[in-house]
Amino acid sequence: MAKGVKIPFDVPVEVTEPNLSSLIYNLPLNHPDGVAIIQGPLNLNAGCSHGYLNCLYALDFATCTPPGKILAARSGVVVALHDEGIADGAFYNVDSSGDGFGNWVAVKHEFNEVSFYAHLNEIKVAIGDHLESGQEIGIEGSTGQAGARHLHFSVHRLIGEKSENICPYNTSQYESIPYRLQCCTHTDGQLQIIDIRTFAKINDKNTNKDQEKLFHVSNYHHPLLDRLREMYKEDQESCFQWINAEEDKKDEYSNLIMNIRRKHNHELKEIIQQYGWPTYESIGTEGSEALWLLVQHQDEDVEFQKLCLGLLKSRVEQGQASYKNYAYLLDRTRMNEKLPQIYGTQWGGNKGEIAPYQVENIGQLDERRSQAGLCSLSEYKELLKKAYHFNDEDFK
Ligand SMILES: [Zn+2]
Repeated sequence: MAKGVKIPFDVPVEVTEPNLSSLIYNLPLNHPDGVAIIQGPLNLNAGCSHGYLNCLYALDFATCTPPGKILAARSGVVVALHDEGIADGAFYNVDSSGDGFGNWVAVKHEFNEVSFYAHLNEIKVAIGDHLESGQEIGIEGSTGQAGARHLHFSVHRLIGEKSENICPYNTSQYESIPYRLQCCTHTDGQLQIIDIRTFAKINDKNTNKDQEKLFHVSNYHHPLLDRLREMYKEDQESCFQWINAEEDKKDEYSNLIMNIRRKHNHELKEIIQQYGWPTYESIGTEGSEALWLLVQHQDEDVEFQKLCLGLLKSRVEQGQASYKNYAYLLDRTRMNEKLPQIYGTQWGGNKGEIAPYQVENIGQLDERRSQAGLCSLSEYKELLKKAYHFNDEDFK
């Protein structure tokens, strides 16, 4: 790390959901006559079969005409599977170690993401197979705890150390994460891209408005959204490289991070000049989050950050941007101007003395955080520990 460059403690760990998938997945089922979503994401209190931590963001799909072919949602490597052989129907009671998921397959992708396909009646791949996106994995089924034939699909991210025995539904190894799903459909002969993003919670308690529908059929400004996704991915990739690097390699990755952010500065300015701060309607919560993160990282151009802060504030007031993002950017600009932060979102320091930067009126901090829809400071510390592989001794 170059002297004077701050450690980027700012992977957006504090969101209602765990981090969104870095990747876009394709519909994992063929659909000559259509595919129905038969169960969406529900929260822990819902008391339904997706009300568990290992499948919070799972979707159940069923083809209209059986049997459906299960397809790899993205290229990757088969890292684990559970196969009790070909089944004609449900074998709920003989799901000996599939833990309710029957015959299942796990495929590993970039960023420690794993896609998970369950209840298959037949598996056509083996551990170690390299799959292309769209390649057949098996046949849709009803094995395990499945009341009817369907595909249970979810995306998971590896937590902590790599494990030899990958088991995506084991929540101590993997967390179920929200993901982006892309599929094509024909409407009036036009090819459309539909993004499906899953949420555990959709109501913004600050505005009391739905942040986004569970399944959002997009009418977005796609070139802008695609560009933001690309830049976001580039930024996050460099962050993850830094997080996972050996101590003596950190400097190298810090420089990479800074070079990417400098490269993004010009383009971000063009975007803001052309569009202002785009609305949810034009780029979705996903694009809005991506843009916020990229601006949050423009620490070498505080004037630009402050310009964006004003634009973002107006959008928050219109219900077209996130109050949380505003809180983070406000703290960031104040920190960069050597002023005390308001919401306690900015932390720093070397290992052993990690702590929040100076906070204004610290007595009411958790109250302010709550107003902004942020978790308590102690909960946030836990999130930082998890995201950066820190332990208690690393903190002041
Ligand atoms: Zn399911």
